[in-house]
Amino acid sequence: MKITKVISHVLAYDLPGELGYSQQYYTRRTAHLVEVQTDEGITGWGECFGPGNVAIANKGIVEKVIQPMILGDDPLDRDVIWHKVYNLLRDHGQKGMPIQSLSGVDIALWDIAGKVAGLPIHKLIGGTHRTQVKTYGYGMMLKRESVDDHIARFADEAAAIRDMGFVATKMKVGLGPKDDVKLCEAVRRGVGEGYPFMVDANHCYTTSDAFYVGRALEELEPYWFEEPVAPEDLDGYRELRRGLSVNISGGEVEFARWGWRQILENRGLDIAQPEVCALGGITEYLRVLALCHAHFTPVINHVWGSAVSVATNLQLLAAMPPLPGGLFPWEPMLEFDTTDNKFRDELLHEPLNIQAQVRANDGHVQIPTGPGLGIEPDRDFIKRYEVCD
Ligand code: CA
Repeated sequence: MKITKVISHVLAYDLPGELGYSQQYYTRRTAHLVEVQTDEGITGWGECFGPGNVAIANKGIVEKVIQPMILGDDPLDRDVIWHKVYNLLRDHGQKGMPIQSLSGVDIALWDIAGKVAGLPIHKLIGGTHRTQVKTYGYGMMLKRESVDDHIARFADEAAAIRDMGFVATKMKVGLGPKDDVKLCEAVRRGVGEGYPFMVDANHCYTTSDAFYVGRALEELEPYWFEEPVAPEDLDGYRELRRGLSVNISGGEVEFARWGWRQILENRGLDIAQPEVCALGGITEYLRVLALCHAHFTPVINHVWGSAVSVATNLQLLAAMPPLPGGLFPWEPMLEFDTTDNKFRDELLHEPLNIQAQVRANDGHVQIPTGPGLGIEPDRDFIKRYEVCD
């Protein structure tokens, strides 16, 4: 079996309204799908993390840099291909866009392997630790509106996400430490006592500001405080984890086993959030997962993107061993973005229907059992939203 073609599909549409997080506002939704074709008619699908013009640049890396390296290779040689591409790109970026690009290709190779075997990817990895997974809904994005309007909207939206059936919810912060504490108080009021919520700063604080917000969070008892400081600030993470009783999470912008080794050895994370569509695909994710578990750091995957990304993560969550195990073990969750996303809801011939499953099944979603990722993207839909070829 040989790889005959590697194609990137960058999809985009204008969102019904502007959304924001602590770094920027945005008005376009993008997705970057990767299709790997073979001489035996089997096609694999993957996804690369990276929105907007990053996706368009990554398309160039996938098609113009990685494709020529792997044409003619056996797609089942996933680990060989991973190391061949990584070794050839090492001098040009051990993190960032080259690795995001490799991620989408690698996921597509796993999809092919599953289709060849007639098995879902979680069976190729080692089996089904769980047939369904708890799901949390994130929303509560920033907008160009007053602090008071944010406060009122966040309280309402948090309650609405809880009422949709999600087992927990996640909010953005980023208006500044004092106003952010008010937003967190509003979300606690909105969901009520006992319902888990999480706070995502997208690395907008200095360490001292993160301590200010973190001390207020100790009273409000969120499940975790995500990316409080810049990912490069390893000392900041370690100090916050030592100094606060709230769980510190992060890692969505870390790449490959060598980056992860550094942040895990630094002991700055209570919860690790690897992003499979960025860190190097499923092949590398499994090594990062092993590293996290070797440090007894629980993993809750970062999920962002289309239905391909959601399906990839469902496969990984099925195959994730319990840590440390027990009669009532600690369980991972699926991250689910509740904001407008056609590429998640309408891309597939048979949609995953996450929201409907969450509503009907007490916040749980079934793991797809079809071969590979267990999904089939609709080519007519892709053509409709593709922005460049
Ligand atoms: Ca995040």
